[in-house]
Amino acid sequence: MSAPMATMAAMNRPVDLAASLDLGLPWRNRFAGLGEAFYTLRSPTPLPAPEWVGTSPAVADLIGLDRAWLASPAALDAFTGNLAIAGTQPLASVYSGHQFGHWAGQLGDGRAILLGEVDAAAGLQEVQLKGAGLTPYSRMGDGRAVLRSSIREFLCSEAMHALGIPTSRALCVTGSHAPVRREEIETAAVVTRVAPSFIRFGHFEHFSHNGMHDELRQLADFVVDNFYPACRQQPGNPYAALLEAVAARTAEMVAQWQAVGFCHGVMNTDNMSILGLTIDYGPFQFLDAFNPGHICNHSDTGGRYAYNRQPNIAYWNLFALGQALLPLMDDQQQALDALEPYKALMPAALQRRMNAKLGLSEVQDGDADLTETLMKLMATDAVDFTIFWRRLSHAANGPLEPVRDLFLQREAFDTWAGRWQARLQAQAGFDAATTQAQMLATNPQVVLRNHLGELAIQRARQGDFSELARLQNALEHPFEALAGQEDLAAFPPDWASQIEISCSS
Ligand code: AMP
Ligand code: MG
Repeated sequence: MSAPMATMAAMNRPVDLAASLDLGLPWRNRFAGLGEAFYTLRSPTPLPAPEWVGTSPAVADLIGLDRAWLASPAALDAFTGNLAIAGTQPLASVYSGHQFGHWAGQLGDGRAILLGEVDAAAGLQEVQLKGAGLTPYSRMGDGRAVLRSSIREFLCSEAMHALGIPTSRALCVTGSHAPVRREEIETAAVVTRVAPSFIRFGHFEHFSHNGMHDELRQLADFVVDNFYPACRQQPGNPYAALLEAVAARTAEMVAQWQAVGFCHGVMNTDNMSILGLTIDYGPFQFLDAFNPGHICNHSDTGGRYAYNRQPNIAYWNLFALGQALLPLMDDQQQALDALEPYKALMPAALQRRMNAKLGLSEVQDGDADLTETLMKLMATDAVDFTIFWRRLSHAANGPLEPVRDLFLQREAFDTWAGRWQARLQAQAGFDAATTQAQMLATNPQVVLRNHLGELAIQRARQGDFSELARLQNALEHPFEALAGQEDLAAFPPDWASQIEISCSS
């Protein structure tokens, strides 16, 4: 691997492809192979004087990148978009989508540039630079991402992965002093993000809506062949099978969101991954006090993407995907039939997750009521979601008082706790210590609460990235005891509820 040390002076023009850096990675460019209807070739635009904000060695391992090299000045330039990378074919893809329930027309990668795919042991991984400058799809935007939202995306990607939730990953964040105008002047950053594919529901909507049925079929074949090969091995229409498979993955993903108290915030169809991955982290939030109607996105005045609406919104989005795939199906009924299983899969997946949180290995009649009664109590008393589940885990083999203390309705809690304990102990071969260990491995101690991200961002803005690294490390091990770092698992401070996270990023 050659690694030129010279930092290119930042220029407001795309990088020079002639002087390219060889990372020694086996690049492939499958998406580029789809043809020009799907993208515009576009190199990143450099940023001045980049500096490291954060790196994820685990993601370096995932794509086969030398961990030590990731710390080098050449890597800093490459992942800021200041050096071309040999073997890549940088491009911005075109997609459309429904935003807040309305058809938004053409969108596309307005600030993300796909470098290509690395042929890694875990399968091909797309590598994107988000915030790397203008593309033909930037519309009114500046092609940039600010430090604040880039840190949030970086931390949350890795946190979700550690929680076992399907997600895009983040290799690194680099920052620059270059000013970026949002509500106020902020500074620019670039997140290098990684996923097997960043194809969205909106890609399908784009070609369908524009009557480009050949390209629609080409895209669907690409996704089936590369990611859902089983869809062709069963009888019937492979695109209906694709829709059903995407719905199943989406159901599992959303069930996991609900179970951990995650609000995505902008579930537009252009932010829905065809692989059922959590992507496009914007105004997301992990619940503090449990409030089923919680709206984490300050711009979502109607509450379309409130926490408790996420499962239905996912269905709405799948319906839009089904509509986009209609030209490839025999009739409308085929799409409706493919979507039907979601209605049972989603609640079943959620109940399975909730049961695991409760220490219950199998779902039985009455478990839905047990869960619902609990959620109502938690909502009425605004009980902290993460702390409740962690304390309940300890209570599986310990005193109930720390859990009870979280409630105002003590008698109602006692009644519920009695039901829970009876249900636990009636399990065949019940062992309190084993159940406690299982619950502690299911219910995280630390999640990326808004205020924790905010504290790391404030320090990073002053050039101190140590708090970010400390938080990242804790989020990478969310189920482990936090010796000496209990502050990361504490109740949020009063000011946490005042944090306003909007779409501005
Ligand atoms: P989002 O809802 O953040 O996923 O973005 C919706 C659309 O706006 C996508 O097509 C983005 O690429 C685009 N976009 C968002 N922010 C910017 C920006 N600063 N510059 C250019 N395009 C942007
Ligand atoms: Mg998006």
